[in-house]
Amino acid sequence: MIKKIRILHNVVLGFINYKRKKITLSNKPTLYWLEPTNKCNINCVMCPNDKFTDEQLGFMHIDVFKSVIKKIKDGASSVYLLVSGESLLHKDIYTMIKYARKNNIRPLVNTNATTLVSERQREGLLTSGVEHVTFAFDGYDKESYEKIRVGAKYDSVMSGVKAFLLEKKRRGLKVPYVAITTLEVGLADYEDLESQKQAFFQEFEGLPVDEFISKKPNTWGSEFSDTTLFETQKPDPVFNPCGHLWSTMTILWDGTVVPCCFDFFKTYPLGNITKQSVEDIWNGEPMKKLRSSMFDNTYHKVNSLCDGCLIPNLNSVVGVPAGMRSAVKDAITNTIGISTESKIKKVAKLITNTYSLKVEKPLKAGNSLKVENIR
Ligand code: SF4
Repeated sequence: MIKKIRILHNVVLGFINYKRKKITLSNKPTLYWLEPTNKCNINCVMCPNDKFTDEQLGFMHIDVFKSVIKKIKDGASSVYLLVSGESLLHKDIYTMIKYARKNNIRPLVNTNATTLVSERQREGLLTSGVEHVTFAFDGYDKESYEKIRVGAKYDSVMSGVKAFLLEKKRRGLKVPYVAITTLEVGLADYEDLESQKQAFFQEFEGLPVDEFISKKPNTWGSEFSDTTLFETQKPDPVFNPCGHLWSTMTILWDGTVVPCCFDFFKTYPLGNITKQSVEDIWNGEPMKKLRSSMFDNTYHKVNSLCDGCLIPNLNSVVGVPAGMRSAVKDAITNTIGISTESKIKKVAKLITNTYSLKVEKPLKAGNSLKVENIR
């Protein structure tokens, strides 16, 4: 309970520091992205991961992972085990999940689900203590899926995910919370998109999926800000300094700390967690310079990845900017339980339609699903 209060306190303090334009922060990050590996086994059209050279690819050593967890455990609410690669390729991924859980940090996984064809992987994911699993399942049928997720096989991934969900149902498990995301990449011209979408969601009828999220792809910082390959989410006519810099921390597989989970290529390194403390990096000169640049409109010169990024150009929700909302939602979920996650999002949706959401659950046979795309 003391830790939960500390996390809420840090989130509130982060918000106050943001509003007061503080550059040196009295709060610590509460939500972390930690990269088990940047290797991936597929080649999605909307992902810059294929630009890595062989030398840049690697896996976080389990000893490094444990030392990071020890450093962040007092202030971390949750850790997303993902930045740019496919985390389930890491041989120690379930040891990592268990270790985070043992240290009272909620482990969250986002996977392309290609390895779930293996029963060992499904069992690992079901029993490791992971609290939240997102299956990134883009496109709504075999043709669109395999065009977007190049190298992945729709039928195999679908059968792996269904087998996982069936086993979760058979065991009566409430956890992990399961979300399925579908990015609409290059699907604008599909004539029967709505019926494809309905058919896709009905595939999961009667299975314990907690949430579907359907949206357009992000720009990944400036990586795809000018792309003509597909339609990305649209910016709002606003500017809000990026909330990540006041609330979250991203650590790559070799310990390099970067400002956000879009920084696959260390465009703006802040330090290295294997050699420095969280506090030293959080209030180090590179981080303070970037925070400060958000207020004098020089951020795009300080960090080229921020130039064209959507995050500062999204409306705030009750004053909370994009980039900070994940930490706020996470702290609330951490305090009152995972089962409240969809309710929190529904409330946020009532407040503003810019909050990322949503799809109703496919609970009953024959029901058509209400699906709302976000921008
Ligand atoms: S503005 Fe975008 S690229 Fe820059 S730190 Fe924030 S999320 Fe990352």
